[in-house]
Amino acid sequence: MRLVIAVLTLACAASAQEFDMVIANGRVMDPASGLDAVRHIGIRGGKIAAISAAISAAALRARTVLDAKGLVVAPGFIDLHSHGQTPENYRFKAMDGVTTALEMEVGVSPVSPWYAAREGKSLVNFGASSGHLPARMAVMHDSGALLPRDKAVERAATPEEQRETLALVRSGLEEGALGLGMGIAYVPLVSRAEILDLFRLAADKKTAVYVHMRNGGPVEPGVIDALQEVIADAAATGASLHVVHITSMGLRETPLCLEMIEGARRRGLDVTTEAYPYTAGMTDIGSAIFSEGWQARQGGITFGDLQWAATGERLTAASFARYRRQGGMVAIHSIPEDIVKLAIGNPLVMIASDGILENGKGHPRAAGCFTRVLGRYVREQRVLTLMEALRKMTLAPADRLGIHSKGRIAVGADADLAVFDAARVIDRATFEDPAQYAAGMVYVLVNGVPVVRNGSLVEGVAPGRGLRR
Ligand SMILES: [Zn+2]
Repeated sequence: MRLVIAVLTLACAASAQEFDMVIANGRVMDPASGLDAVRHIGIRGGKIAAISAAISAAALRARTVLDAKGLVVAPGFIDLHSHGQTPENYRFKAMDGVTTALEMEVGVSPVSPWYAAREGKSLVNFGASSGHLPARMAVMHDSGALLPRDKAVERAATPEEQRETLALVRSGLEEGALGLGMGIAYVPLVSRAEILDLFRLAADKKTAVYVHMRNGGPVEPGVIDALQEVIADAAATGASLHVVHITSMGLRETPLCLEMIEGARRRGLDVTTEAYPYTAGMTDIGSAIFSEGWQARQGGITFGDLQWAATGERLTAASFARYRRQGGMVAIHSIPEDIVKLAIGNPLVMIASDGILENGKGHPRAAGCFTRVLGRYVREQRVLTLMEALRKMTLAPADRLGIHSKGRIAVGADADLAVFDAARVIDRATFEDPAQYAAGMVYVLVNGVPVVRNGSLVEGVAPGRGLRR
């Protein structure tokens, strides 16, 4: 079936306009209220100003009326785990329905200049945590880019370096960072006591810790030990805890990890988690993830399960050694498909991409994470309902962040909207060619401004704003 989307631009009425824009006739799906019905949405000043069952005369006088007949109108997707924070990445996010892309795992340091560099220039909303890794890399003069690769990895920090790192993380939180980011596995010599200190800081500041845990996989010390550490720290300090990419850490132990998180929640702890809908992760081959014993830690994989992002080639012992000295992104094909399906279907698990593209190279999750859930796991495999998938992409991350003006369709909420064809929405990015825009997003609005219109990116707009705590 071909949908003909009419875009009507109506002449301004003489009287003041009630709405800047109206999205008419769409199937409005709002996980917060449970609304799933045809509605007309009026937008004014970047906010949702009206949601009505009948289209009013005032609505028809709006400067722009977008016809969403046959399309789903959902809150824009919130990606808690988006390392790609460049104009290139934001374009792929927008085409995937993402209106807010946040770097919560690694985080940034210092925080204020990072926000200043993006304010007024960004296609989508952006934000970051105050990052332990970048603070530690600065204090210890590590030469890594996104992730540490030498000085911060090779030795433990001195007490003085620990104090300096903690002070940087604290200033970042005071500058408005959205949480405290941690990647314990990338600095494996960091002590349990130092991690506990960071949890205490997050609790003092009443914010959440977003953590890539100390270990993954089935071999002890593995994912169970690692999850026990962070749940215990959350319990001991009162800090909220968000465990990133549970499938790539849990592998075959993922069901047990989810049981532990569910148990902690039943006992009153604020613990949440996320996953991306792919059977491979990706990280820097120069990082501590690939120190001695990585094959067992990744669930018993080998060199051929690694794929060099720059060329798409599978590795051998020789190319592994060469690229490890050089550094760069590598895909790790380690996550069983049934584990991906189980996590995507589990109500505890939010959708988050963990994506980054650089000059078109990277993991396909940077371009297709959200549309892949909607196309592959909702429509094709019926692993979860459309409303439940939307909840994991909108309301659940907004609640995790404590931001109530986003992630919902309500009067007064920010007009961040994803308008898509549920019959056609799908990812197109692959490991061999990750820089392919997703299909099926017809309109995407950020603060009331279309960034995708009639299925194509809009040039020359920068409505994204920095989200601060
Ligand atoms: Zn990670």
